[in-house]
Amino acid sequence: MPNPDGLNLKAFLREIRRLDSEARLRAAEAQIEELEQRLAELSVLDPVTGLPNHRRFSDRLGQALLMAQRHRGTLGVLHLDLDRFKRVNDLVGHAAGDEVLREVSRRLQGALRQGDTLACVGGGRFQALLPELTGALGATRAAQKLLEALQEPFQAGTREIPLSASIGVCVFPQDGMDVEELTAHAETAMYRARERGGGRIECFTATLNRDSLERQELEQCLREALRNGEFQMYYQPQFFMDGRLAGAEALLRWNHPMLGPVPPSKFIPLAEESHLILPIGEWALREACRQMALWQPQWLAVSPEPLILAVNVSALQFTQSDWDLCVVRALADSGLEVEQLELELTESLIMRQGQEDLLPLRRLREIGTRIAIDDFGTGYSSLGYLQRLPITTLKLDQSFIASLQSDPPERASEHIVRAVIQLAHSLGLTVVAEGVETEGQRDLLELLGCDCLQGYLLGRPLPADGFEALLQAMTARGFLAGQGGAEPVPLRPPRSA
Ligand code: C2E
Ligand code: CA
Ligand code: CA
Repeated sequence: MPNPDGLNLKAFLREIRRLDSEARLRAAEAQIEELEQRLAELSVLDPVTGLPNHRRFSDRLGQALLMAQRHRGTLGVLHLDLDRFKRVNDLVGHAAGDEVLREVSRRLQGALRQGDTLACVGGGRFQALLPELTGALGATRAAQKLLEALQEPFQAGTREIPLSASIGVCVFPQDGMDVEELTAHAETAMYRARERGGGRIECFTATLNRDSLERQELEQCLREALRNGEFQMYYQPQFFMDGRLAGAEALLRWNHPMLGPVPPSKFIPLAEESHLILPIGEWALREACRQMALWQPQWLAVSPEPLILAVNVSALQFTQSDWDLCVVRALADSGLEVEQLELELTESLIMRQGQEDLLPLRRLREIGTRIAIDDFGTGYSSLGYLQRLPITTLKLDQSFIASLQSDPPERASEHIVRAVIQLAHSLGLTVVAEGVETEGQRDLLELLGCDCLQGYLLGRPLPADGFEALLQAMTARGFLAGQGGAEPVPLRPPRSA
């Protein structure tokens, strides 16, 4: 350090500046270091909930595995998915949705033990690491506690939102040996829980793994099916009670070149889960409208009433913001009259919606589209609720028709069916009975005042050419509306898939 009393003042000043800039440099370096640390911290935290994200979770799981291997211990991995969480965001907006997520994470955290790690791995998805388990049962018990923690509804702004979750449970060492295997298997088990309706826990099993591989393969095939033209629409006739043809329900069929025909019960849920139901459902709607519009002139030459085309709508299609426009476009492009289209939505789907979610349905009803509640009777909707819905038709669920004449008589559904028909008529709704298989069922339904019938007794779903043959047979027979002398049902068109 130069002497301040000395002559070399310039050198002294230079030295001061050097020291000063070194200090500032050091301060800046410290700041950068702190920022880097903060950044590193943030890169392992979920921005919404502040919980560890998947990276930190994997690190912790890796460390816990080392410990468990060393001490021959057991550990559990849970994968929790909030059921239909996307709908909450759609309903209340992202800011309120985030607030709900934070409350969810607080409650989940509160339900876990101190040494456990809870991570948030994406909107509405959580993972929990349970080290030091005493046995596999402990993991299920912890999962049970998490489900219970979500039981009270959540507050989003002024709304109360009920939430449930699907939880997959996986345990080291029996279900997986490393980080990847354990997290993947917990997720597979979660998918099974969701498939079974959500709000439940499933444990990973080897069979589950095989199923999951099969599903992945099937999903891959499904992705290519639309492009390869493997889908076909079938049409199942619906009849009025006096035997006149009322219309048809369009039903999807998938014929895979190697797998053969895959039943809708197998591929529709998969298509919904993978969101492939959006393009597939749109194709089905457009194809069915196109076909029905082609048949209409031939039918209207002999009948004053047009044929109704019923098309199934899946939950995911319904919740798309432009769904009603998509329907209007399909109508416009095909030339089918609005009044000829009947959209079928299941009772359980309708019941899950709030009043404003039903707006697209109201708009479609206002322009004249018919709207049916499918599988009616399985969702326990109240009378008052039905009154407020923009609907035209109730489709009585097959289970009620099957048990119409059950033995003992007190177990028979006759009185329920009678009440539903009366209620529907008091609201001005048409009742269609589905799954009519016997003459006895048909006769009883006639007695009870049902309006329309659909079922194997009257006709199986038919490919387009089969349905066209049925149309031709009916028009050739002079099967005119309301003109007596026509041959009444049952008609037995050729058997089909
Ligand atoms: P759903 O809408 O309840 O359709 C009626 C189902 O009952 C059809 O099965 C039909 O073939 C069957 N069925 C008709 N009459 C009888 C009968 O007398 N007895 C019995 N046991 N069954 C009868 P399918 O075609 O296998 O369709 C199953 C489900 O797949 C449908 O149930 C519907 O939920 C779904 N699905 C079919 N096509 C479509 C579609 O284009 N879009 C959507 N989103 N779902 C579809
Ligand atoms: Ca249906
Ligand atoms: Ca149905």
